[in-house]
Amino acid sequence: WAKGLGKGTVKVYQSVMTESRLSTLTMESALRDAIKAGQIKAYLQPKVDIRHGRVVGAEVLARWIMPDGQSISPDIFIALAEDTGLIEPLTQSIMLSACEALQQIKPLVTSSFKLAVNISARQLINDNLCADLKAIIDGSNLSANHFELELTETALIDVNLGTLATFKLAGFTLALDDFGTGYSSLSYLNKLPVDTLKIDKSFITSIPGEPSSCNLTRSIIKIADDLGCDVVAEGVETAQQLQFLVDEKCAYAQGFLYSKPLPITEFVDYLRANQQRNKKGSQ
Ligand code: C2E
Ligand code: MG
Ligand code: MG
Ligand code: MG
Repeated sequence: WAKGLGKGTVKVYQSVMTESRLSTLTMESALRDAIKAGQIKAYLQPKVDIRHGRVVGAEVLARWIMPDGQSISPDIFIALAEDTGLIEPLTQSIMLSACEALQQIKPLVTSSFKLAVNISARQLINDNLCADLKAIIDGSNLSANHFELELTETALIDVNLGTLATFKLAGFTLALDDFGTGYSSLSYLNKLPVDTLKIDKSFITSIPGEPSSCNLTRSIIKIADDLGCDVVAEGVETAQQLQFLVDEKCAYAQGFLYSKPLPITEFVDYLRANQQRNKKGSQ
C-alpha cells in the first residue's frame, strides 16, 4: 500500500466493486484504460541471500498508479482483472516493464539474477501464455532464463503437467507462491517441475511467538531441501524472524525488513547501495 491512500479509500473501492454491477463495469473500463495508458507499473521487491545479505533477484509486483499519484493495491485490481480477462494484457504489460527493468539491472548483476513474475491460476488454461511471454522477452533481446514464474499451489491442483513442462523448456524457472496455504500432497509436489518454494507470509508473521508457525516453517525448509528446491521466506519484517530463518538455514528472504516493493529507478539505487555495502564488507 502506498502512503496517502487510507483504509477508507480501500473500503470505498471494495464496496463500489462488490455492491454494484454498474460500478464493476466502470472499474473494468477504468482498468482497461489504465493498462493501455501504462498506468499499471511494475514495482520490484528485492530477494536477498540471507547468508550475505546480497540481492540475488526481485519479485515483480503490479501497482495501479492513478494520474494523481495515488496507488491502488493489486489485492483490489488483480481479482477484477482475473474476472474480466484483463489479466492477460495486464500480465503482458507487466512482463514488458519487467524486461525494461532487467535491461537496466543487467549490467549491475551476475547472470543468475532473476525477476519473478506472478501468474494467475486462470491464465494457465491459455495455451498461448508461454509463447506470449517468450515473445515479449525475445522482443527485448533477453532470455527467459532471467525469469521465474510464481504460481500458487491452488493454481497447480488441476494443472496440465505439459503446460509446466513447456515453461521449463522455454527457460523459465517455476516458484510455488504462498506455499503451505494450499493442499498439495507431497507425492504430487514431487511430480511438479518446481524450482522454488515461497513460504507464505502468514507463517513468517507469527514467528517466533507461534510454535506451530515455527514448526511449519521448519518443515517447509526441509521439504524444499528434500525436493531439491530453493526456499524463500516472504514477509520478513523483523530481526527476530530473520534470526530464526538463519538458524533454520533458509536460503532466501523477502520482506519489509529489507525493502518494500520499489519503483524501478529506486530499486536500481537500492541494488547499487547493497553492492557497495557488500564490497566494503568483504574487504
Ligand atoms: P504475492 O505474490 O504473494 O506477493 C507478496 C505480497 O506481500 C506483496 O503484496 C508484497 O508487497 C507483500 N509483502 C512483501 N513483503 C512484505 C512484508 O514484509 N510484510 C507484509 N505485510 N507484506 C509484504 P502486493 O504487492 O500487495 O500483492 C498482493 C498479491 O497480488 C500478490 O501476492 C499476488 O498474488 C498478486 N499480484 C501482484 N502483482 C501481480 C501481477 O502482476 N500478476 C498477478 N497475477 N498477481 C499479482
Ligand atoms: Mg508472488
Ligand atoms: Mg506470496
Ligand atoms: Mg499472495
